[in-house]
Amino acid sequence: MPNVGGRGKKRAWPSGNEVANSGIALAKRSPYNRPVPNGVPETETHPIQLLRRSLANGRLGHAYLFVGGDIESLESHAVELARTLNCQTPKATGETGIPLEPCRECTACRKVDSHNFPDLDILRPEMKSRVIGVGQIRGLIQKVSLKPTEGRYKVAIISGADRMPPVTINAFLKTLEEPPERTVFMLLTAHPEKVIDTVLSRCLRLNFEGETGVQLDAEDEAWLQSFVGMTVQTNEGLMGRYRLLGNLVSHLSAKRDGIEEIQQAASPLTRHDDIEPALRKKWESELEASIESEYRGQRSQFLAGLQWWLRDVWLAAMQQGRELLHFQAWADASEAVAKRISAEQALENLQSLEATQRLLETTNVQEALALEVGLLKLKL
Ligand SMILES: [Zn+2]
Repeated sequence: MPNVGGRGKKRAWPSGNEVANSGIALAKRSPYNRPVPNGVPETETHPIQLLRRSLANGRLGHAYLFVGGDIESLESHAVELARTLNCQTPKATGETGIPLEPCRECTACRKVDSHNFPDLDILRPEMKSRVIGVGQIRGLIQKVSLKPTEGRYKVAIISGADRMPPVTINAFLKTLEEPPERTVFMLLTAHPEKVIDTVLSRCLRLNFEGETGVQLDAEDEAWLQSFVGMTVQTNEGLMGRYRLLGNLVSHLSAKRDGIEEIQQAASPLTRHDDIEPALRKKWESELEASIESEYRGQRSQFLAGLQWWLRDVWLAAMQQGRELLHFQAWADASEAVAKRISAEQALENLQSLEATQRLLETTNVQEALALEVGLLKLKL
């Protein structure tokens, strides 16, 4: 049975300083509705503060990913946002009228509290399969395709976004990318590394435990930075894209050389001169496999960095504001590139890089060819 809706499961949301089901009282009330402008907020980069600033500036994303270790607490943050957005008499509103603080007394607030607000749905993994099934997601898509009945926004919370198998994601992706008007998705996960990139990159990410998205090593970051700078100066055109491609290919080739050097030095082949031919062959093929696997891992990490930047460009093209861009330091550049293209083109860029990544990761396609096809499609 698809478990669509927040009513399916009898459980109190731990909100404010209520007691969570662990039996441990939450230390502080949900910071979501804590007033910001008076005094300095605890941390400027706390996800709730980022979110508040972005709402206060009139920007509401259509899909958020809440990341944190405790799924119950993420749910309570998500429900609080749903309550806030739909409160009929909010205590504070942003400049474009988006509510910032719920009254907790109006009908909508009370219905959210008693889990029967019709425009709020929560999906959790099915009990038996422990995954979010395609039936559940289809039910949800059907529900969000209708206009809100009582609220301002339809809010759909997907608790356990890492538990969506490919079939579910395939059914969901189009709606996640272009949701109906006045719909907000909130995907929650304690295991962001298990959420596939296509989903990660479509969401505005809020990290409740201070960790970040993709981690780049210093060389990759330096390369990406120069790539971003080059992109800003390169106006669209085939020559420009070939130049970017050449640059990327030589970065990868230097990466492979570096790995080869390190691994060859560590191989037993360098320490033994007189080896049986059979053993030599074995060590050689082990070395080769190990280089290939390390290289693939590093390449995938590196391309993920590029993907996250293309995602920033997409967010900028949708005028989502700067707060939630991944590469904060390059916000100017990302916005400059975004100005040249439409949001649809920016999304296509993201999709074509992801298709390239999939091709490289799941097939033995020739790397140069895959990169050429993928990169030349980019509209930057
Ligand atoms: Zn209210």
